[in-house]
Amino acid sequence: MTPKRDASEIRAAIASGETSAVAVCTHALDAIARLDPDLHAFHQVTGDEVRRRAASLDAGGLPGDAALGGVPIAIKDNICTVSSETTACSRVLDGYVAPYDATVIQRLTRAGAVIVGKTNCDEFAMGSSTENSAFGPTRNPWGLDRTPGGSSGGSAAAVASGMVPVALGSDTGGSIRQPAALCGVLGLKPTYGRVSRFGLIAFASSFDQIGPITRTARDAADVLAIIAGHDPQDATSVDAPVPDYRAALTGDLRGLRVGVPRHLLATGVEPDIAAAFDRALDELEHAGAKLNDVTLPHADLAIAVYYLIGNAEASSNLARYDGVRYGVRAEAATTHDMYARTRDRGFGAEVKRRIMIGTYVLSAGYYDAYYLKAQQVRTLIRRDYERAFAEVDVVAVPTSPTAAFRLGERAADPIQMYLSDVFTVSANLAGLPAISIPCGLTSERLPAALQLTARAFDEATLLRVADALERRTSWAMERPPIFAP
Ligand code: GLN
Repeated sequence: MTPKRDASEIRAAIASGETSAVAVCTHALDAIARLDPDLHAFHQVTGDEVRRRAASLDAGGLPGDAALGGVPIAIKDNICTVSSETTACSRVLDGYVAPYDATVIQRLTRAGAVIVGKTNCDEFAMGSSTENSAFGPTRNPWGLDRTPGGSSGGSAAAVASGMVPVALGSDTGGSIRQPAALCGVLGLKPTYGRVSRFGLIAFASSFDQIGPITRTARDAADVLAIIAGHDPQDATSVDAPVPDYRAALTGDLRGLRVGVPRHLLATGVEPDIAAAFDRALDELEHAGAKLNDVTLPHADLAIAVYYLIGNAEASSNLARYDGVRYGVRAEAATTHDMYARTRDRGFGAEVKRRIMIGTYVLSAGYYDAYYLKAQQVRTLIRRDYERAFAEVDVVAVPTSPTAAFRLGERAADPIQMYLSDVFTVSANLAGLPAISIPCGLTSERLPAALQLTARAFDEATLLRVADALERRTSWAMERPPIFAP
């Protein structure tokens, strides 16, 4: 079962002349004008530029094989674009226009995509609710008093509400998968090194990856095929062939071995989420997959390790925002005061908290006890997966232990907020690909989601499972109350 008008249908309708890029993109801009005042999924929409680009594609600027010809797409605001500001939703980058397009943007543009705007996110992608955006939170199309998750909450809400069929997010500890889960759409974090990070504003460089948020597996397959692959501008991007992800969408799950770490699910998972997860496992079994228990003995340390290493890397990456080269500068009598005032005014509370923790764990006397120890445990977590993947092909957990929580509910308690990521951070620590797939609604009609993690560079298997579930269930067809047809 495929929902109407995903990117591949839009592209086909444009290619056949049934509609035009201008008509499709105008429709997206109209939907944004209608819905986004409530949702605030977008930080900026570049309307005139969108119409110009769509018109030039219609006028013949499009190669026939352009996989996203005329398809409107939304971009998280921490990915550099020359056609608009890139702020990472931080005051310190207010007004900043990058001098180059990120590699993923260059590749999407070459494939004929039309970038309609930049989506709201937690400041520098630090958060799980978009409440850390300097420009106000995004609301969830399934309930306006709820968070869409984060940090790519704007991208997930934009896709879930039908304003665009496809968006890019970034995922350092769950920021593609958790908002996709809370908004009822598909989110894929590729293997570390699969997609170039050139032009992605750095948060934690050993974890960050860009990936697609879509309504269908085939759209995720198409977008990944476009953005994946080696990039000489990013030394961590891997020079390995990009498989034909579309060809992996066979609908056949016979023989797939699914590992279930039951020991992780004993506490903290909402009953409705646990029930949806079990339904999803049943469905996989009916489709011919085999379920196996697996153990990930160090998984309970993942949150601590993630927030130690992630904050250490963030404190180093964010040292560059000093008022000299980028964005906003606060004037002061001395250079030192200028740095201090710029950073004090430019960064929000969560970003400051992370810079302080990260600087602390890297400092002399604490480095061995915190940073080094965390790196050692990171290795243990990676080995847990290696052992599990000797026996199974994917590891399944719920993406998020809860459905979309209320705005404000966790904002005052950072630890509660960090626990939103309990099932997602491990894939980043181990560098593995992971996907969030919708698996029905809770009794409050909020989305639940299944997360699958696979071996490095085996995104194809994740997409195959997502596609098979789309064919077998109506989970990907569920629509929120706020939806642009
Ligand atoms: N929520 C996590 C954090 O706040 C993950 C963020 C992300 O993946 N960018 O660090």
